[in-house]
Amino acid sequence: MTLDDLKPMPPLEADFDMMSTIRRASAGTVVGVASQAPASTASGRIRQRLQAARASFLANDNIAAYLQEGELEALQEEVVEQVRGLLKALVIDVDNDHNTAETAERVARMYLHEVFKGRYHPQPKVASFPNVKELDEIYTVGPITVRSACSHHLVPILGHCWIGIQPGERVIGLSKFSRIADWVFSRPHIQEEAVIILADEIEALCKPRGLGIVLKAQHYCMKWRGVKEPQASMVNSVVRGSFRSNVSMKKEFFDLIRQQESLL
Ligand SMILES: [Zn+2]
Repeated sequence: MTLDDLKPMPPLEADFDMMSTIRRASAGTVVGVASQAPASTASGRIRQRLQAARASFLANDNIAAYLQEGELEALQEEVVEQVRGLLKALVIDVDNDHNTAETAERVARMYLHEVFKGRYHPQPKVASFPNVKELDEIYTVGPITVRSACSHHLVPILGHCWIGIQPGERVIGLSKFSRIADWVFSRPHIQEEAVIILADEIEALCKPRGLGIVLKAQHYCMKWRGVKEPQASMVNSVVRGSFRSNVSMKKEFFDLIRQQESLL
């Protein structure tokens, strides 16, 4: 990520499918009411549904609840055509180049079902259980592998995160933190927002008394291009509840994380 990446996004162009102007406020909320002309593409229909519900569909939002039966497949076909168009615009001879002949299919599959699956697939099922033993000691889990992509360049963000919990009324299994993290990170992100979204999901699942997340990652938009700093990483954290209000708990959380990190 570079300083340039931090500039606010320009307003979106008028939405052709919807024949209406959708304005995105700086906070990311969608403003404007769409006309009801039926959209001819799967993405157009889904977008129409999202706009009618005034639901946010930013790059790091999950939109699975707005997809109908068979629409993910239709969306994939549409993305294949658009990626093929991108390759053609890059003047790559996709008709005769054996290496890129099926790249559009691979990229569409990779986006919808792998690297951005957290946008299109529903949250993995996570059972929570009553905290019958009334556990209230901090525990941490990590390092959890972080595989994401930057919203600005769609290149990888790779790293690790650590999650700490002071349990509340409900508890979830340790492995579930990895599953939720994978689902949240498998979207285009900026790192600052990724930890907040993950924290929101964990809070919704088990309502901990305290929650802390530390994320340390390398951004390929900084390693591979731009300033080309191969070793630079970004570290950020979020602390909530008792980890925020109680200084000694916060310190204990970061001490535990540091021990786990030294084992790397
Ligand atoms: Zn970037």
